[in-house]
Amino acid sequence: MKKEFKDYQEEIYKCSRCGLCQSVCPVFKVTLNECAVSRGKFNILNGILKGDLRFSDNVKKYLDLCTGCNACKDFCPSGIDACKIFIAAKHEYYKNKKISLFVRFLNSYFLFKSFLVCLGIAAFILRVTGICKIIKIFENLILKFGYLGKRLVLFNSLVSSKYGKAREKIVQGKTKKAVYFEGCFNKYINDDTKNAVTNILSRCGVELIDRNFECCGISYLHDGNFEQFKKLINKNIKAFDCDVDYVITDCASCNSVLKEYKNFYDTEKTVDLSNKTTAAVDLIKNIHFEAFKKLNVAVHKPCHDSYDFINIVKNIKGINFVDVEDFDKCCGFSGKFAVQNQKISREISRQKILHYVEQDVDYIITTCPACLLGLNQGLAEINTAKKPEAINLFVFLAKYCKPSI
Ligand code: SF4
Ligand code: SF4
Repeated sequence: MKKEFKDYQEEIYKCSRCGLCQSVCPVFKVTLNECAVSRGKFNILNGILKGDLRFSDNVKKYLDLCTGCNACKDFCPSGIDACKIFIAAKHEYYKNKKISLFVRFLNSYFLFKSFLVCLGIAAFILRVTGICKIIKIFENLILKFGYLGKRLVLFNSLVSSKYGKAREKIVQGKTKKAVYFEGCFNKYINDDTKNAVTNILSRCGVELIDRNFECCGISYLHDGNFEQFKKLINKNIKAFDCDVDYVITDCASCNSVLKEYKNFYDTEKTVDLSNKTTAAVDLIKNIHFEAFKKLNVAVHKPCHDSYDFINIVKNIKGINFVDVEDFDKCCGFSGKFAVQNQKISREISRQKILHYVEQDVDYIITTCPACLLGLNQGLAEINTAKKPEAINLFVFLAKYCKPSI
């Protein structure tokens, strides 16, 4: 079961104030604000534990000044898992605060889902009318229109079809059954990745079964809103009503959150779903691919993914793999963080993208739809004649490669 804020007291006291977390924190790098980094947040939480401070809107604001990238955890000599503590602290804040019906409505899944449906309709209109292609042609001109221009270019890059093929239902040498946790991006905005994943996995003998899953709940989990998060777990457990070998995700964030479900409910079904959750890339690790043409390709490693997928990319025959500085650093886009701290989020994304532009990369391959948002956000911040394209690994493999024997 999930630990409460008070259960982390000893871990918070382990912080030696060495300040090493400053050197890896993407938010600190851009803001130079001590409250952005773990050490600063632990100082505040220490004050709360001692009774000198209390949970307030300001404390919550500083706790929210974090992308959840986990870089500080990996670097901390005391081995403190800062993100888990921040989540527990935010949960404590919600427990102690009277939240009005209006604020509850603003935080509700109903509103979030309605917003996604509206974005999905806009995306569909842009694609079928061909407006996507027109925006792409005039992209550099549109970027000159400041904030709104940048947001339009960002939205267009996400909704444009990069793969364009429908799902093929031919399963060759069928051996494994899996339910497909498609995630919000595939479901509402652009199903390119879903089609590419289905087509590649079906050739590897994996049959993907659709279920009507809801959002994995990552933004509610990271916000400490366990009430809403648990509602989504229950909905997804209901939808997961079959006996399969895997629960497949093509999103590094969904993958990490589904594995967390069992820490909230230890029922047989929840544990089964968490234990069977598998990243789609894990099923193609032993397949070699060959590219149709020579391309300069680099990767962006999502904070919630392992380094494994990078080897798949490095092993693609015929590409020129480009090592880019900070390829494993946060892209700056992290659900609510990007909404609440737009300027900081955009600046982190912009700085990240510059490394790829300097190296004349054609494609930046990644495995998380949220990172595609971050990378495209960074691309919309720069106005150069030649830019790389951010692309999902499966879309790249399905579009530009064939399995090599
Ligand atoms: S690196 Fe770890 S121990 Fe050092 S200040 Fe940051 S959180 Fe504290
Ligand atoms: S998780 Fe990332 S953004 Fe948050 S405090 Fe740690 S290094 Fe900074």
